Amino acid sequence: MMKLNDQSLLHDQAFMDGEWRSAKDGKTFDVTNPATGALLASVANMGSEETAAAIVAADKAMGPWVTKTAKERAAILRKWHNLILANKQDLAVLMSEEQGKPLAESLGEISYGASYIEWYAEEAKRVYGDIIPAPASDKRVLVLKQPVGVVAAITPWNFPNAMITRKVAPALAAGCTVIVKPSEETPLSALALAELGARAGFPAGIFNVITTTDAAIVGGMLTESPVVRKLSFTGSTNVGKMLIRQCADTVKKVSMELGGNAPFIVFDDADIDQAVSGVMSSKYRNSGQTCVCANRILVQDGIYDAFAARLKQAVSGLKVGGYDEDGVTNGPLINGAAMAKVERLVQEATSKGAKILIGGAVHEKGAQYYQPTILTDVRRDMAIFEAEIFGPVAPLYRFATEEEAVEMANDTIYGLAAYFYSSNLGRIWRVSEALDYGMVGVNEGIISNEAAPFGGVKQSGIGREGSKYGLDDYLEIKYICLGGLT
Ligand code: ADP
Repeated sequence: MMKLNDQSLLHDQAFMDGEWRSAKDGKTFDVTNPATGALLASVANMGSEETAAAIVAADKAMGPWVTKTAKERAAILRKWHNLILANKQDLAVLMSEEQGKPLAESLGEISYGASYIEWYAEEAKRVYGDIIPAPASDKRVLVLKQPVGVVAAITPWNFPNAMITRKVAPALAAGCTVIVKPSEETPLSALALAELGARAGFPAGIFNVITTTDAAIVGGMLTESPVVRKLSFTGSTNVGKMLIRQCADTVKKVSMELGGNAPFIVFDDADIDQAVSGVMSSKYRNSGQTCVCANRILVQDGIYDAFAARLKQAVSGLKVGGYDEDGVTNGPLINGAAMAKVERLVQEATSKGAKILIGGAVHEKGAQYYQPTILTDVRRDMAIFEAEIFGPVAPLYRFATEEEAVEMANDTIYGLAAYFYSSNLGRIWRVSEALDYGMVGVNEGIISNEAAPFGGVKQSGIGREGSKYGLDDYLEIKYICLGGLT
């Protein structure tokens, strides 16, 4: 059994209507450590009946929650934030156990996830309306912002804590209630957040966590229900597209954080050391399992070889292993399918002429670990150019001109994050504006924070999370026409 300072953070029941509940039929599913396969918990496997009950609970909780003042909601959110930070170490251990990332990264994610709660506790108090000069003297035009209603949030395994707080904090701040369906790979982090929410004084029903392996059934019920007024989803583009279709029948609002295929462009005039360190954090963090990971590294001819050599040196310093081993920088991949995908992409690229500069195989640590890898001489006709790798593999492409780099960078259905390194101010503006992406890192490899709008264009998503803009996704605009004022 996993050792926590506070063992009561480890739950194996779902959390609904302020209570811990097992599945009606008693079914459970196993949550395991991806590195060792060790069983961590057998968690309640909820189905359609329980989902219906969660929807009723969230609906019932809306009235009392929305009539609280913004200041009261903010105070509860602030308590939740403080409790999360006070239990940071346990939450990080729990996360590393079920997800595999090094403890330092899990600790970072807990702080990052909590920062959204702090931010929206503050923003809750600044949901301003408007008074618009009316086109007739006997009228006044007023605008209110009101919560959209019950929100369903479906979240992935790569950030088991932050992908939840990024949705739940603005939703609760706005006055919505929420039903979260976390990934079946990482439900324990979600349940620990529910435990701390209860301790923070969340009224029953405002935050519900449905654990299940029947994602399609639970997702189907959440999308089909007319009571659920919004779906916020982070995950793969294919599932996202399906959920958008499912939401059409009830015309739900949707926020979608989907896949990415981030270009990372290094121009001849870049500071090579800075660019190398940018790739190291953008590419290899979470073993390459983030939707904003550098996925295609485009390097200009003049510095290609020097850049590759320095990157190799940096990559050779990475340490692969279990989350609690000293100095570990890279953990396992989440499951066998993830390993198989990475192996397939590397194999296909090398069969077409790409070269392995370092890595390129399963790591001696075990079947779930892939070696941090660099491929050179990678070309557009290889599958890796279009695929979201989700593993620690950096493919290096070569380009000659700025125009060619921008054209290659935009040659994808995705449009989440892009990065480039240059010291030329004119180029910095030109390329920033030309990149068809929701987020651009200029001479910077880590761009996400609670104050900035995170989100994508094209098939990478709809809506933004974080920042002042993130609250709008959970608010409706209501126009009131006050007439007869003669
Ligand atoms: P990933 O490849 O990152 O696991 P997914 O899109 O498969 O991405 O998963 C993200 C979230 O979507 C998870 O919580 C998963 O359980 C959920 N999910 C997967 N398939 C469906 C579905 N058909 N309906 C609703 N949710 C789903």
